[in-house]
Amino acid sequence: MRPFLLLLVFLFVACPALVRAQVKALRFGRVVDGRGRVIPNAVILIKAERIVAVGPEKDVVIPTGAQTIDLRAYTAIPGLIDAHTHMTFYWDKTPGSTPWQQLGTLGPAVTVFLAQENARKALETGVTTVRDLGSSDGMDLAMRALINRGAMHGPRMFVAGNGLHISGPPDKAGVVPDPGRCDGVAEVERAARQQLAAGADWVKMYGSTGSDQDVTGFQTFSYEEMKAAADVAHRAGKRIAIHSYGPDGARDAVRAGANTVEHAIDLDDATLAAMARQGTIYVPTVEHNRYYIAHRAEYGYDSAVVAGLNQYVAKNFATVQRAVKARVKMAMGSDAVFTGFGENTRELAWFVKAGLSPAQALRTATTTGAEMLGLEGSLGALAPGYYADIVAVEGDPLRDIQVVIEHVKWVMKGGQVEVDHTSAGPAVPPR
Ligand SMILES: [Zn+2]
Repeated sequence: MRPFLLLLVFLFVACPALVRAQVKALRFGRVVDGRGRVIPNAVILIKAERIVAVGPEKDVVIPTGAQTIDLRAYTAIPGLIDAHTHMTFYWDKTPGSTPWQQLGTLGPAVTVFLAQENARKALETGVTTVRDLGSSDGMDLAMRALINRGAMHGPRMFVAGNGLHISGPPDKAGVVPDPGRCDGVAEVERAARQQLAAGADWVKMYGSTGSDQDVTGFQTFSYEEMKAAADVAHRAGKRIAIHSYGPDGARDAVRAGANTVEHAIDLDDATLAAMARQGTIYVPTVEHNRYYIAHRAEYGYDSAVVAGLNQYVAKNFATVQRAVKARVKMAMGSDAVFTGFGENTRELAWFVKAGLSPAQALRTATTTGAEMLGLEGSLGALAPGYYADIVAVEGDPLRDIQVVIEHVKWVMKGGQVEVDHTSAGPAVPPR
């Protein structure tokens, strides 16, 4: 009986303390809540993984015993959402190798383990959620599961499994085609259903050529095939992202009911108008081709490749400018691969250059990203009931978007501190 009584006494004494310890109070110089409100001298209260209160210091009562974190030197913004990543594209920088050559050679288990580095680097940029648009061998499903159970540090992942693609490159002769390969409506339906059955959150479809050094944008799947994939996704309560480098695939993707259109250049006016009307989200990923140019040595790209990439960037940016005028919703997607992790939020600068205010640009990575995921009630804002995904930046993100891109000092995801570069924080971020 005695140990049992002792346990009871212990629980009686310790439990209120444990409950209190669960509450965290974050003090900020300012909170930008993601819904248009700016609160100076603010407090955010967190219980477990959710926000329970946000407001001015004078209005929020900090419970006694709450763990208080002083971030008054910083501005809080919502955790950022990267709408387009490839988390399992990992390169170990072996001398003489290039990222694309090494892809697929390390094996799925080894790759998942090593790709933790990509996930950590994404967190460092303030990205607490990603939509991962294309992997293989269930590696994205594995990372999602490991991160959700706390065994791996990384952003929340919403994944697409194998992207659907037509026969042809990148298929190699004599190699068993991956499960994303499909031709014709029936095969498209099967492939889409299989990916969803395996646990994908999204269907990803490659609706045109174009990737890596190839900037061609020839339509691959027909309108009927796109419609079939979109219908499979929507009937299952899921969503579909269609990749198209060129305007033709994008036009059919929008007609077919794609929820998001990735990359596309030279979108015609009617398509832009339809996107604005339907709420189709454009994820232009302008930055990823600039990234390839900047990293040309790693990739082994020659000057002809760089010239092609430059041309594509210019057209991509011009299309973003037209999308801004046409009031098309846009989401920040990096298309990060390999060493692109850690540069996830640079796309924001292109949006500001194209005419969005810093506040509007921030929305592409917060409220619009959340809406894209159908999680506008729990992600992308700092408000009661939302996940405690919070980024502390140094400076005024509403005046200068570079503050978001370059001056992330502290990151919390689901109530846990993931990155701490504050003067009070550990020299080495917690791992
Ligand atoms: Zn991509």
